[in-house]
Amino acid sequence: MKIRFWGVRGSIPSPGPKTVRYGGNTTCIEVRSDDGELIILDAGSGIFPLAQTLLKELPVRAHVFITHTHWDHIHGLPFFIPFFIPGNSVRIHGAYDVISSQGIEQIMDVQMQYSYFPIREAELKARIEYQTLEIGEVVTIGDATVTNTLLNHPVIDFGYRVDCKGKSVFFTGDHEPWFNIYDEGDEGYAEYQTMVDEKQQQMDEVVRGVDVLIMDCAYTAAEYPVKKGWGHSTFDYAIALARRAGVKKLVCTHHEPTRSDDELERVFAEVCRNCQRLPGDPEILLSREGMELDL
Ligand SMILES: [Zn+2]
Ligand SMILES: [Zn+2]
Repeated sequence: MKIRFWGVRGSIPSPGPKTVRYGGNTTCIEVRSDDGELIILDAGSGIFPLAQTLLKELPVRAHVFITHTHWDHIHGLPFFIPFFIPGNSVRIHGAYDVISSQGIEQIMDVQMQYSYFPIREAELKARIEYQTLEIGEVVTIGDATVTNTLLNHPVIDFGYRVDCKGKSVFFTGDHEPWFNIYDEGDEGYAEYQTMVDEKQQQMDEVVRGVDVLIMDCAYTAAEYPVKKGWGHSTFDYAIALARRAGVKKLVCTHHEPTRSDDELERVFAEVCRNCQRLPGDPEILLSREGMELDL
């Protein structure tokens, strides 16, 4: 299995001289199974440069998995050039949206209205299919399987685990640690804490032993308190999870859009210093546009 990062930025594309080393595109990860099946995790603006490379391998057959429908994970989708070319086929997977009461098929329809985009979905030439996923549903794509897990975010967010011939990668999309909404001593605290602990244990089990964990690390522990409830994790939480679950490699992503490359490296170095590496710890690295991992 091969993994390539096309977008690593959170919230909004952030191009410019200060982000040129790690990249300014929003989330998009290309996964290739050993047999060459193309699985695309999220469709942030990073899907646009990916799309251009795919023009060299027509016809394209792609399987897109959307973690959730916040703009930074879908706003590249109308610019996925293979949609415009006959003979290509794209299957888009994602969760049911409880707010609109629609399945994942709304994802293009909403973005491709004349108010926002000059071309209607009906004018696209590729064969496009949609699959709204049940929680925990397993999708088989050739030699790979993709399994979703419900994570914690202001909308439904599916983390996806891709397995192929004994190798595995888990991508969180956006995820915030579950936390107790009650104060200690309040009625309801203990019961709620049980639920929080159970959800975390379930996530630990799904992540356990994966070769690569690609995780939302938008904030430092110091930044987190004022961003609590926004739906994102910290470096420290990700490292603790990776250690508990015996992950081999942790890739920190969804970089804060205001963080320059220098600042990102400074923050990351401080996190690594403070976490006091232990023997057997996972390798920890920052995601970067163009970075490739070969499993
Ligand atoms: Zn996001
Ligand atoms: Zn989000």
